[in-house]
Amino acid sequence: MFAETIHNQRDFFQTGKTKDIYFRIQQLKTLKQAVIDNETAIFDALNADLHKPLAESFTAEIVLFVKETEYAIKHLKNWHKPKKVQVPWQFFPASAIIHPEPLGVVLIIGAWNYPFQLVIAPLIGAIAAGNCAIVKPSEIASHTSHLIAEIFNKYFDKSYLAVVEGAVETCQQLLAEKFDHIFFTGSTTVGKIVMEAAAKQLTPVTLELGGKSPCIVDTDIDLKIAARRITWGKFFNAGQTCLAPDYLLVDKKIKNNLLDEIKKCLHEFYGENPAKSPDYARIIDRKQFDRLANYLKNLKNGKIVIGGETTFEERYIAPTVIDSVTWEDPLMRSEIFGPILPVIEFTDITEAINIINSQPKPLALYLFSQNKNLQKRVTNETSFGGGCINHTIIHYAVPSLPFGGIGNSGIGSYHGKAGFDTFSHYKSVLKKPFLLDVKLLYPPYKNKLSLLRRIFG
Ligand code: NAD
Repeated sequence: MFAETIHNQRDFFQTGKTKDIYFRIQQLKTLKQAVIDNETAIFDALNADLHKPLAESFTAEIVLFVKETEYAIKHLKNWHKPKKVQVPWQFFPASAIIHPEPLGVVLIIGAWNYPFQLVIAPLIGAIAAGNCAIVKPSEIASHTSHLIAEIFNKYFDKSYLAVVEGAVETCQQLLAEKFDHIFFTGSTTVGKIVMEAAAKQLTPVTLELGGKSPCIVDTDIDLKIAARRITWGKFFNAGQTCLAPDYLLVDKKIKNNLLDEIKKCLHEFYGENPAKSPDYARIIDRKQFDRLANYLKNLKNGKIVIGGETTFEERYIAPTVIDSVTWEDPLMRSEIFGPILPVIEFTDITEAINIINSQPKPLALYLFSQNKNLQKRVTNETSFGGGCINHTIIHYAVPSLPFGGIGNSGIGSYHGKAGFDTFSHYKSVLKKPFLLDVKLLYPPYKNKLSLLRRIFG
């Protein structure tokens, strides 16, 4: 069933149309216009799937995409230009040029938490680099998935850009086909399945995965601002953000004050009862709700200090803070991906750095400190996909910063030029005139070795 779509896309790619820079720019403009035209429908779908607050839909799913598209349109001519590079003098006369070329037909698979943005943002790189693409949105955010299919059917030719809707089985059937690149956003577990399937076809992959992203809080901070930025980044989309701070590592001296401030922020953001706030999202489905509710039921050492309320019928979990957790608590054994913030205290920054380095490399890391030495130490002594100093999650919105994980949190990156690079092959070409043909390189090699050593050694 997909074989025909892929075949048609291969035929379309072979026409060479996507190699034309003006064609690509036009398609990016069409994509941007399609999103702008359908903004209200997108908001409605996200609300139906996640009860996503309008402002969060606008900032994280629409504006981010529009800005990324404009950035790609602005820089595409430059990215696309073949680049001359230096040639060692031994090869003179010669010139060397790197030509970016599109890969062909690519597959983009999305997750449910930002169901629109997570398939549409990688598509910017795929289009900019001159590829045809098949997009498979997450079936779990079903309203958004249907809407994406509807929009694409209206604005694009299927033999150029197509949407395939479906769940695990559909995804596995797609993975059995030959693509020129697979761009996957989702869990580390499924990432391994995707990579295994891709290996069978020798297809390169980009894996945008998750993990437990730490947030370190030192004493040298503006307490109110730090608390506000942490609370916002954690409880945005009810904590269902791959790069949300997963847990806090707080200096013991400041912990109680920080928790008091977070409590105040939650009140300021969501009022007396967050269940009644129009600005607080819901858990996507029953499976995720049960998983999160079980964390709260099965605490070993942790104590709920803020929130903890759950309402099954509404898939509501209150913004929750848990103090005194240990690594034995079930919620510290995997990515939380919900509105629960565990707190671990430290007495010395080396202790915090050692904790982070004993865990798989996270997608993000956040440090709150004005101490320049500490900023340097944490940046140099820990490994993570990307992050912020004195803020949370906003590095994702900067197109000049490549976004991606490392180790268990992912392979490869995108956004801005990194997105273009991900979907391009850099073809290296050395060009020589017929002028001068030094015979030194050719057999017979008799007596040439010592001269070769002098020239190349
Ligand atoms: P998931 O891995 O369950 O699903 C992602 C996609 O894979 C879906 O489209 C789904 O249909 C498909 N899929 C699921 N099981 C499959 C299987 N067995 N075989 C083939 N395909 C399968 O992830 P999710 O629950 O949608 O998303 C949550 C995860 O995604 C979290 O771990 C989160 O951190 C991560 N995430 C990462 C980023 C990032 O940018 N790094 C962004 C958002 C979410």
